[in-house]
Amino acid sequence: MERRKVTFRLYPNAAEDARLIGWLRLHCELYNAALEERIDAYRKHGKSVGYYEQQNVLPEIKADRPEFVELGSHALQQTLRKLDLAFQSFFRRVKAGQTPGFPRFKSAKRFSGFCYPDPAGWKLMQLGARGATLRIGSGKEAMSIRARGQHRFGEGGKPDDLTITRKHGQWLASVTVRVPDEACARTRTGDAHRGLDFGLNDWATFDDGQTIANPRFVRNELPRMTELQRQQARKKRGSIRYRRLGRQVAKLHERIGNLRRDFLHKQTTRMVQTCAVLATEELRTQNMSRSARGTQEKPGRMVRQKAGLNREILSAGSGMAHQMLTYKAAEAYTRLHLSNTRQLKPSQRCAACWELVPRTLAQRTHVCPHCGHTAPRDQNAASVVLIDAHTPGTGVAARPKPLARQRARSKSVTRETPTTASQDA
Ligand SMILES: [Zn+2]
Repeated sequence: MERRKVTFRLYPNAAEDARLIGWLRLHCELYNAALEERIDAYRKHGKSVGYYEQQNVLPEIKADRPEFVELGSHALQQTLRKLDLAFQSFFRRVKAGQTPGFPRFKSAKRFSGFCYPDPAGWKLMQLGARGATLRIGSGKEAMSIRARGQHRFGEGGKPDDLTITRKHGQWLASVTVRVPDEACARTRTGDAHRGLDFGLNDWATFDDGQTIANPRFVRNELPRMTELQRQQARKKRGSIRYRRLGRQVAKLHERIGNLRRDFLHKQTTRMVQTCAVLATEELRTQNMSRSARGTQEKPGRMVRQKAGLNREILSAGSGMAHQMLTYKAAEAYTRLHLSNTRQLKPSQRCAACWELVPRTLAQRTHVCPHCGHTAPRDQNAASVVLIDAHTPGTGVAARPKPLARQRARSKSVTRETPTTASQDA
């Protein structure tokens, strides 16, 4: 069994929208109240309140405030777990010597959403190719919300949990589906052996000289983003115009994210479909972005913004591409070879004679002083990793990132309380 995440966009009508907002507010209220309780208990009594103590009060809350009942007890527990996780990560980072921010009170606007940790209290029905209906709530009060989205697992997929989020006024439903391995399999149309180098000038270069150009959003949307942010900087902080521009920036960020994800999905799918062996370097987290700093004679403009933007756009892209390649390669029975960058140094090694040829990032062509082999720099690197893939005993393991479990066990002092132990099982 594999777990896969599928996201649907929800199209609630006005009444349903209002009701969802009401639910979101209640979840937010619960979150803030639980946070306040933890802070108070510590300040006044030096006592720390754990997840299970807070969970055990939920029935009383529901008796006092009947509007909480229709949210579902597991969804309410999940919101308390979310707070507990925030505290756990806070303490973990304190322990590690970092300086994390203390868990914050959230306004309903900033509250991202809520989650049903198991298949109870909701049902997603697929209609046709892309349509769907999300039935949520219980009994006569249940809502049937129109949705759009699809997954390729057919009837075999068993839904596990549901997360409902609100982003810029849009509602999204993310469903984790448990799928049998055979339903995940991908058909492969080719058996090529390809080396692959991710770069900055071209997004990717193959060992046979083919390239994939950088996607258009890097050219088209980034200047727009810079322009919007520049306009926003001229407005008075907190004014209506400032906030309006802020919303536009956020929307554009999301658009870039969507374009990037779409591009990466298409490219990585094509790669694993046509290749039996695919070789690339292990993920580099640094040195991915060219600096915008410029030189002393010709300093760059907007250095910090550009550095941030470049880093974010490009490194998130390469991380995501690796992630997608890893699980898609497994699904298509393609062997994904990740070379050990430090040992192999693909960008400095000659693919013909295997000698190291140190050079700077600015040199775009590889000319070997030892054997005379000449090739574009990225293509040479792609050839090197492909040779590495054909050498036994090289490479590092490619591990797909596991999906987060919604019902992660909370660490708590009251874990052994019998009533809660049975509910958690
Ligand atoms: Zn050489």
